[in-house]
Amino acid sequence: MTPDEFRRLGRQAVDFIADYWEHVENMPVLCPMAPGAVAAGLPERPPEQGQSWEGVFQDLTQIVLPGLTHWQSPNFFAYFPANGSFPAVIADLISTGLGVQGMLWATSPACTEMETRMLDWLVEMLGLPAEFRSDQSGGGVIHSTASEAVLTALVAARHRLRSREAGARGDAPRECVYASTQAHSSVVKAAMIAGLADGPDDRSRIRLIPTDHRHAMRPDLLERAMRADAAAGLAPLMVVATIGTTGSTAIDPVDRIASVCAPHGAWLHVDAAFAGSALLCPENRWMARGVEAADSFCFNPHKWMLTSFDCSCFWVRDRGALTSALSITPEYLRNAASQSGRVIDYRDWQIPLGRRFRALKLWMVIRHYGVDGLRAHIREHLRIAALFERLILDDDRFEICAPRTVSLVCFRLHPRAGESPEQTDARNRRLMDAANASGDLYLTHTSLPTVHDDQTAGPPRLVLRMAIGATLTREEHVRAAFSRLSNLAE
Ligand code: PLP
Repeated sequence: MTPDEFRRLGRQAVDFIADYWEHVENMPVLCPMAPGAVAAGLPERPPEQGQSWEGVFQDLTQIVLPGLTHWQSPNFFAYFPANGSFPAVIADLISTGLGVQGMLWATSPACTEMETRMLDWLVEMLGLPAEFRSDQSGGGVIHSTASEAVLTALVAARHRLRSREAGARGDAPRECVYASTQAHSSVVKAAMIAGLADGPDDRSRIRLIPTDHRHAMRPDLLERAMRADAAAGLAPLMVVATIGTTGSTAIDPVDRIASVCAPHGAWLHVDAAFAGSALLCPENRWMARGVEAADSFCFNPHKWMLTSFDCSCFWVRDRGALTSALSITPEYLRNAASQSGRVIDYRDWQIPLGRRFRALKLWMVIRHYGVDGLRAHIREHLRIAALFERLILDDDRFEICAPRTVSLVCFRLHPRAGESPEQTDARNRRLMDAANASGDLYLTHTSLPTVHDDQTAGPPRLVLRMAIGATLTREEHVRAAFSRLSNLAE
């Protein structure tokens, strides 16, 4: 392809994306196709000869678009959003076009130095501890996902613990990881990958701490578990506190968790994958009280900060703990800049070697919107989430199932007199399935424990999650979603 052909087709691709964003609102949000339907439209064998781009664009419209679930639709309320924006799309296009691979400072200084600067900007933007800045003991790095960040934190924590304990014990102690029952499954997955769990149900070295009536981790039970493990000769390795759990955006009390963690010398990782973006607004920073004591912190701009997937920001208080766990230098990567000790080589801050120029995305998004624009984006979603919550509260067929901390509303149809819990769950599932089949909106569910005010636990119940945060979502979409749900409610 010549540069002139690229110019022409590139413009066509940009038009394709702009048209998609203009019309995505009218497409059925959840893909209605059956498994195999997309594959059926694709030839079984690759073409021997190059093909025309006319056909490629035609297939994009006829085969690919109908096979999508539209994450950028303003009517997407499922999981957590994967926020995109035109500034981020432009940045990704340019990043791919430049085609640099920033594994070492020397392989593209701009890739590294811009990343360092962006992550320092974000420390200030989110009100994170100054120690996370690169000109202090710490620093930040862009990973693909929060799952990668928690695994990296675990590996760094293990290295720190083992270096401290070297020679102190004959046998390697059995290390334990702690998180709440509401923590994301990536914590257990990280333990599985790191060899601390044989499978998702292996709890021999993972303690999932029960939550209170707000679905937040109970520090008293964390303390009990850590003490019991320490007394039994086990080594408390890492605690994961969540700011905005996946199920209900519950806020674990990071300050109290940090106090429990400290005497054991365990690594404290704070996972704020979704809700972290809310810290842009000073009025939300109560959620992160205690983060000053964290060893690491992660949030995903790709969830709620207008930065297209993938972009997960991960900071550590002590970059040495990270790099000493992950650094390995074969001869072919040696270079004068690295050896001078004056540069960051981000390959030592992550699992893979290679890395894309993702900082461009943060740079262009922050420059385009400004911090004020990003705050306005968050505040508007919080406003319309409160509005949706009000609509639910005002309709006596529904109930709210968890305190709303950010823009996720957990709700369900009230149990009816004489109805079993299973029947209530089934009625709620039917409502969700019917809403999703309508194509007008897409929302997902979870199961939340019932915890009474006196902390006694009841059975889990099915809860519907209305996650507001897609870039294009406005008040009218939230009102329309409520009307649809209200009309479909049995
Ligand atoms: N942590 C929390 C609290 C999440 O909600 C999620 C995903 O929704 C994750 C971690 C995992 O995110 P990722 O897809 O970036 O690994």
